[in-house]
Amino acid sequence: MASRLEHTTANNDKKPIVDSKPTKADGLLHHLYYGQDKISYEVIRKDKARKLRIKVYPDQRVVVSVPMQVTDEFIYQSVQKRVRWIWQHLQDFAKQKTDVLPKRYVSGEPQFYLGRRYVLKVIVDPEQAANVKLIRGKLTVTLTHDSSDGSDRAVKVKTMLDAWYHAKAKTIFAERLAAVLPQADWVHHSPTFKLLSMKKQWGSCSAQGNLVLNPHLVKAPKECIDYVILHELCHIKEHNHSERFWRLLSQVMPHWKAVKTELDSMAELYLNE
Ligand SMILES: [Zn+2]
Repeated sequence: MASRLEHTTANNDKKPIVDSKPTKADGLLHHLYYGQDKISYEVIRKDKARKLRIKVYPDQRVVVSVPMQVTDEFIYQSVQKRVRWIWQHLQDFAKQKTDVLPKRYVSGEPQFYLGRRYVLKVIVDPEQAANVKLIRGKLTVTLTHDSSDGSDRAVKVKTMLDAWYHAKAKTIFAERLAAVLPQADWVHHSPTFKLLSMKKQWGSCSAQGNLVLNPHLVKAPKECIDYVILHELCHIKEHNHSERFWRLLSQVMPHWKAVKTELDSMAELYLNE
């Protein structure tokens, strides 16, 4: 019986699922004030970080990643220096919250691909073949003819986008799997993967060691894709989330927590359809 190893990442309803529960090492919340507004930030220490980096996420989280040896005081001062910038981003994201409403598949909506945000552009042009293309920062969907019914058009645009993401996912995931596979030296046969659109998961691994990956993951940065693939490859050796599993994952991706934080913070947007 192919038992699915339940696992990773995405969650729509903000409740952390098993993997995403922060551990103590994961950065406690610190805070400071901008005027009356309290701003909380999370500190993540990374082996590979060369300098301090502040990121504001759409879910209102502020994450500061720093090299291991940096002091709390230095972090506080650095955050303080950029507090206006952080506050402005938080304001913008608060306003954008409405973006995570159901998509209408009309021009102007955000679309993501490999961690970058694009603007959807829908055009009707009977002279052209129906297609989806990334052109100058825009994800352009060309329809050959218009239907009078707007909802009909939305279905068409969605279908074309789904197919485009699916095709991209197939190529990119194969490429990333090949790239990270040498690190998983316990895997002796190159695993196959299937694409399956899921609401709460980025991936899973069958008892036979084959992967299932969520095509929406192709909206995330390559590093996040690598994280999910490595996570699944670790399940080929360690079938559950034991201590040994996390140790193995840390060996092949020492900063996986930061990567996972980034992916989780965008899950709602990436999975919105
Ligand atoms: Zn897992």
